[in-house]
Amino acid sequence: MRKKVLVLGSNFGGVTAAISIKNRLKGDVDVTVLSVSSKFLYTPSLIWVPFGGRKVEDITFEVAPTFAAHGIEFVQKGAAKLEPDLNQVIDTAGTVHSYDYLVIATGTQVDLNRVDGFKENATTIVNPDAANRSAEAWRKFLRDPGDIVIGATQGANCFGAAYEYLFNASYQLRKAGIKKQVKLNYVTSEPYLGHFGIDGMPTGKFMVDMFFKKENITGYSNVAMDHIDKDNVHLSDGRDVPFKYAMIIAPFLGVEAVKSCEKIVNANGFVDVRDTYQTKAYDNVYAVGTAAAVAAPYTTPVATGVPKTGYPTDTMAKVAAENIVSQIQGKPATKEQAFGEIPALCIMDAGNNGISLLGDHMLKPRKAAILIPGPQNHAMKIALEKYMLWKNKGGYVRLP
Ligand SMILES: Cc1cc2nc3c(=O)[nH]c(=O)nc-3n(C[C@H](O)[C@H](O)[C@H](O)COP(=O)(O)OP(=O)(O)OC[C@H]3O[C@@H](n4cnc5c(N)ncnc54)[C@H](O)[C@@H]3O)c2cc1C
Repeated sequence: MRKKVLVLGSNFGGVTAAISIKNRLKGDVDVTVLSVSSKFLYTPSLIWVPFGGRKVEDITFEVAPTFAAHGIEFVQKGAAKLEPDLNQVIDTAGTVHSYDYLVIATGTQVDLNRVDGFKENATTIVNPDAANRSAEAWRKFLRDPGDIVIGATQGANCFGAAYEYLFNASYQLRKAGIKKQVKLNYVTSEPYLGHFGIDGMPTGKFMVDMFFKKENITGYSNVAMDHIDKDNVHLSDGRDVPFKYAMIIAPFLGVEAVKSCEKIVNANGFVDVRDTYQTKAYDNVYAVGTAAAVAAPYTTPVATGVPKTGYPTDTMAKVAAENIVSQIQGKPATKEQAFGEIPALCIMDAGNNGISLLGDHMLKPRKAAILIPGPQNHAMKIALEKYMLWKNKGGYVRLP
């Protein structure tokens, strides 16, 4: 009998896993994708939405035609309940979806409750609605400028976006002719500037320090946020950082449906996986991308998470797909790729400049790692956006 694969989520991880499996097994498998959103979103470009550089519609496309072109059924419904002992998922309309193999690629939800006053007084950019609200706050700020706080709370992991936003804000202030009248502050749980959640890169701290000096940015590292009121971020060490505009990256949690499936998740609702991306509890249930749990190989005085970026998500989805294909063909799931050993490939934008982060491994120990600064990175970031939208829309998942 033809096997059924159910994929939850239709962004980076979901698109890659679903199409990779279908491409390999063609008519020998039925693949269904169940997702909350009808659209693919190129998340990295959300950093430009508040400054008017992108609208959300510039960085999204409808996924149904992509899946249809590959013979995949797409159901636009969120998963409400996972029942791995029964090999089924119940969606928000109450429909039961049975499967032989399940891929969880549901990403994350943002935890705005970690710091009191965050929701009421600060903005963030981690999803389209939040980025649009931050855009409104930025426009208001430009009419009546003051100090700025950009940062990442304790437990956050998406530090690249925080740095990119900081450097873009500095560039935008200069463009608006108000750079000198605004004090730009960066507050972070990272133990030092340039830690990035990956225990740094060679010359990273030096480069970030240099950039902060050149752009006149005040950094507060190794610190938690106690609470945020309408004018200040109150730090756990007693200092207050005033602001008129704040964009802060908060921690992530697993999405509710996954978080409530206690047999497969950790305390934050991320799925515990092996290096095959099978869950620790079930051989036929996989998790990839930001939904998967990743243990930090370091400890920090203030809780600091590991960033789960696009390239590792793509790699995890391909490993999971290969293993599911093997299992369907009656072979064991032997393909392994530890998260920490996936290459680190990332471009951090700075408005008209930037830094490429390249390393043989996401996490230490690394044999090779280099940071390459320069204006070419801004052009590469734009080119990467166009490429990733084209690649995912066309379902060209064999490409890197
Ligand atoms: C602001 C920002 C900037 C970033 N910048 C970069 C960068 O520059 N470079 C980089 O490599 N990475 C970057 N990242 C990280 C990158 O976005 C993630 O690695 C990537 O989105 C992970 O893909 P995913 O498919 O695991 O999850 P997501 O992209 O979050 O997709 C989750 C999918 O699951 C669906 N879903 C959610 N709940 C359910 C449910 N209950 N049932 C079914 N479906 C559900 C959603 O609709 C969505 O389709 C950034 C992230 C953010 C937030």
